[in-house]
Amino acid sequence: MDVLKSKIDSDICNVITNKSIRKYTILVDKSIMLHFKDDTTTKADLLIGADGVHSRVRNTMFGPSSPYASSRFSGQYAYRMATKQAEIATTNPDHPALKGLTFVSHLPPRPLKFRNLTASEQWCGQTLHFITTAIGPPTIGPLLISLYETLPKAHPVIRPPNVESVPMAHVLEQCPKWEPHLLSALSLPTACSKWAIYTLPHLPTFMAKGLDGPAGNVALIGDAAHAMLPHQGLGACQGIEDAYVLSLLLSSPLTNITNLATALEFYDEVRRPLAQKVADSSRVVGEMLDFTSYEHVGDSDEEWGQAMGGLCEWLRDEGGTFAVGERAMDMLKGKA
Ligand SMILES: Cc1cc2nc3c(=O)[nH]c(=O)nc-3n(C[C@H](O)[C@H](O)[C@H](O)COP(=O)(O)OP(=O)(O)OC[C@H]3O[C@@H](n4cnc5c(N)ncnc54)[C@H](O)[C@@H]3O)c2cc1C
Repeated sequence: MDVLKSKIDSDICNVITNKSIRKYTILVDKSIMLHFKDDTTTKADLLIGADGVHSRVRNTMFGPSSPYASSRFSGQYAYRMATKQAEIATTNPDHPALKGLTFVSHLPPRPLKFRNLTASEQWCGQTLHFITTAIGPPTIGPLLISLYETLPKAHPVIRPPNVESVPMAHVLEQCPKWEPHLLSALSLPTACSKWAIYTLPHLPTFMAKGLDGPAGNVALIGDAAHAMLPHQGLGACQGIEDAYVLSLLLSSPLTNITNLATALEFYDEVRRPLAQKVADSSRVVGEMLDFTSYEHVGDSDEEWGQAMGGLCEWLRDEGGTFAVGERAMDMLKGKA
């Protein structure tokens, strides 16, 4: 936040960081009144809700009783741990976790090769999968370890805490018969945080169109708009793409206070289908990694690898985000 603030011209932009929004109301002149939890208010011409999966802006936009107002527990947990790459290297310099991204899970543990991705190795089984990510040089870089758990479909858990600390013994209990590489990696971290993963259904709009809540110059970005399962590692990236497209539209000389709603409509039109497509493919990738649905899993390891590779193929389209930005700008210019 300090880095962002240092880039902003304080003469034209006043940044306040210690406020928590409770709701907003739309005034007769179409300006927006923000109501904060400390009972203060302020007025704005435009409100972008980037307040995460439990967004209060979204809650107001759809109305508290709407199915789109609240986040839902996905039935999945992430156990997140860290160690140093050097610690693993001391006992096993050939450990697969040091060679790139490694996915491992159990029942039955079997390695699968990704098409076109030789640095990656996956071990898949049921309801749990394991990912290590080595960052930076092996001598000093950390090794991040995540264990993902999917509860049975009819689980009784409704709204667990977002994050809690759990003892390492709790993690190890879940995988007593896992293969030795995995157990050696899990023997190193001393602390683990357990994240309950909350997601959203596909919203019918990312802007305040007056469905059950008030219409106005209000839009959602990031997890507030499309909180998804993390199995393609793309949730935050999607938020960045939202911000990119929105910033193109809002900074254009063609946009002014009288046509803000039009710019938000173009943002919604280009970004919503894409973000929701990523949310769908993240869910499918999770089902494949955990074998919780066999719909997408081929009969052979090779078919499985091809299906997984196919799901990730479109991510290689490096120009995609820029093309989406151009499409939104063409709409603004009346070309599309
Ligand atoms: C286990 C796990 C692994 C993930 N791995 C990846 C990955 O590898 N790659 C990736 O791209 N994404 C990943 N994600 C997703 C990523 O973490 C989120 O998509 C991203 O953090 C969302 O950013 P955001 O700014 O929209 O929301 P948040 O990061 O939730 O930020 C919301 C902000 O709004 C503030 N806020 C909340 N309520 C209010 C309020 N009422 N008023 C004012 N401010 C408020 C919060 O304090 C916070 O600063 C992962 C998520 C999980 C759970």
